[in-house]
Amino acid sequence: MSAPETAVRIAGLNKWYNDQHVLKDVDLHVTTGERVVICGPSGSGKSTLIRCINGLETAQSGTMVVAGREINGPRDVRAVRRSVGMVFQQFNLFPHLTVLENLILAPQMVRKVPRPAAVELAMEYLTKVRLADFCERYPAQLSGGQQQRVAIARALCMQPSIMLFDEPTSALDPEMIGEVLETMTHLANSGMTMLCVTHEMGFARRIASRVLFMDDGRIVEESEPARFFDAPQTDRLKRFLSQVS
Ligand code: ADP
Ligand code: MG
Repeated sequence: MSAPETAVRIAGLNKWYNDQHVLKDVDLHVTTGERVVICGPSGSGKSTLIRCINGLETAQSGTMVVAGREINGPRDVRAVRRSVGMVFQQFNLFPHLTVLENLILAPQMVRKVPRPAAVELAMEYLTKVRLADFCERYPAQLSGGQQQRVAIARALCMQPSIMLFDEPTSALDPEMIGEVLETMTHLANSGMTMLCVTHEMGFARRIASRVLFMDDGRIVEESEPARFFDAPQTDRLKRFLSQVS
């Protein structure tokens, strides 16, 4: 069993796609309230790692405890998904539902929250992301930045204990990145446990308790942001930082 302060504990995780080895003996321990930023070159396994944490992918070997539950099968995966929110690069809102309907769907279906309570919660989170006035609109009537803030609010409506982000600003026009990072910063400051794949290094410096660098399926280096950015230890990280910043 894991101590209650553990949000995620991964040990010896290995994942192959056919004969391609994409996660190699990954160990990761995240305590409750930590904000972990994951960066690394394209194809290094960042998305696969994040997707394993909420059961969107299954690893072939290794052990994983997420939100206090050891993951051994589909029943555990379903339980974990209720406590883990995920935000993707491509928003993934339901296009045929209004903003409000997007937010109240899963709480009603999965958590059996009665509609009035789901609406109340949704409006609370929409207010937090400054989009309450947009609740009757459809996703296509919003900017990319607004859609991503709705996606964050939608994930929060499930009242997760952990939030995962996979390059949440990569699909946005530059002028919209700031508003999404601001929403994520508020969330970080509220004490949410967060794992974020992002190449927004300024954001990582401001909010991360720890930054991980992945390369070729491994966590190659990890440290608190000041040391990570100002005193990288490996040549691979030095090279990577000189390319992204
Ligand atoms: P990153 O997010 O760091 O760019 P990914 O985790 O998406 O990396 O991918 C790691 C490797 O696994 C890449 O070589 C990628 O092509 C491969 N990969 C990712 N998803 C799949 C999949 N569904 N099927 C086969 N190969 C995949
Ligand atoms: Mg990715």
